Amino acid sequence: MKHNILKLVILLFFCTSNSFAQKPNIVLILADDLGYGDVGYTGSTQIKTPHIDELAADGVIFTQGYASAPVCGPSRAGLMTGRNQVNFGFDNNPVRLLPQFNAEYFGLPITEKTVADRLSELGYVNGLIGKWHLGDEPHFRPTKRGFHEVWTYPYGGHHYFKSEPEGERYLSPLESNYKTPDPITYLTDDTGNESVDFIRRHKDKPFFLYASFNAPHAPLQAIEEDLKLYAHIENERRRTYCAMVHRLDVNVGKIVAELKKHKLYDNTIIVFLSDNGGPVASKDPWTINAPYRGAKGILLEGGVRVPFSITWPKNIKAGSAYNEPVSALDLTPTFVESAGGKITAADKLDGVNLAPFISGEKTEAPHPNLKWRFTISASMLEGNWKLIRLPDRLPLLYNLSEDKSELNDVASKHPEMVIRMLKELGDWDVSCPQVLYLEGGIYKKRQLDQYDSEYQLTQPN
Ligand code: CA
Repeated sequence: MKHNILKLVILLFFCTSNSFAQKPNIVLILADDLGYGDVGYTGSTQIKTPHIDELAADGVIFTQGYASAPVCGPSRAGLMTGRNQVNFGFDNNPVRLLPQFNAEYFGLPITEKTVADRLSELGYVNGLIGKWHLGDEPHFRPTKRGFHEVWTYPYGGHHYFKSEPEGERYLSPLESNYKTPDPITYLTDDTGNESVDFIRRHKDKPFFLYASFNAPHAPLQAIEEDLKLYAHIENERRRTYCAMVHRLDVNVGKIVAELKKHKLYDNTIIVFLSDNGGPVASKDPWTINAPYRGAKGILLEGGVRVPFSITWPKNIKAGSAYNEPVSALDLTPTFVESAGGKITAADKLDGVNLAPFISGEKTEAPHPNLKWRFTISASMLEGNWKLIRLPDRLPLLYNLSEDKSELNDVASKHPEMVIRMLKELGDWDVSCPQVLYLEGGIYKKRQLDQYDSEYQLTQPN
């Protein structure tokens, strides 16, 4: 009898402590290669994204939100750790390993703690639905990196309509540790449906859902019904891409609706962002990063500035805008500290908890500066000033407050600032370890050419 009473007291204690804690759920919705200007709230005149817009309008929109790299892999390595990936050698995309490198190091180093590892320690159940791209060797798989449930595929992307039992790369079979994956219907819908299912199954405990959509990354493949919505667009690639973004938006809507259905929406931190800028092909480009110049693969704003919002009705006022530069690196500490964890200097994170900045408790900018290093290039943003260092020319300096499209290089007018910023950027650069592996050399020339390309800086009529 005494024993049973003791059990009951312990049980009651845990029940009440859980309900008192009210840890927020966390839903991180990542779009892949979505152009800055390709959602409604960033000014798209062609693509309608009512669900993404409504979600952003219900929270805070970051007008200057950045990815930590202009391509998928490194950007995700930063996103998942809160550390600038260059600080652990993850500069490059893990796509094809060159023969002189070691596959054992072809992914997010196992010495790095992921946000999912940290949230696990706080009692969260973590799910990855969709693209991983942080290593395909067994020790890099998401189930080894803090995710309890995964529905994913190897390599850096996937075909939208099918996989094959022995398929490789874009045709690889789907992988899951909680079910035998159903055949693909349309990958974006499947990712949305699995995300909804994850929410439903875990609605009674704090969860972290990483809804990592393949869309609207290539291959450009859309469903007929969605293509009809954009039949008026002549450029076939643009038309397909618009239809793909539409389907992404529909699935963002599904996720939000599921949270609302279970009355979880109020205390869920929902982030929407893209992992890098839209790729801009020289012929028939399909993404628009307007008003920014540049594209996926380079450090001009169009490569790294992304649609970025956080919604958390319980704690963030609807209709907010935050204008200081923030980084995707800030999400890990924001999630961990909002979940009751603590980040200390020993964690060596580059991101900061954004909550006190959004609330206005802290009025200074979250970062004295932001730095990027990507293969041949490096850049630094300090206040309005953006410096870019390339191997074939003098450093470039732009004043973003009056030249958001980076059209006027003013380096020659500010030599002292250029010298000071170059020094700081260079000191950081040489303090970082060697890269873990490299990408093919063809990208070097391609990147340089991209700095000199023409970009669409306004939305089409
Ligand atoms: Ca990407």
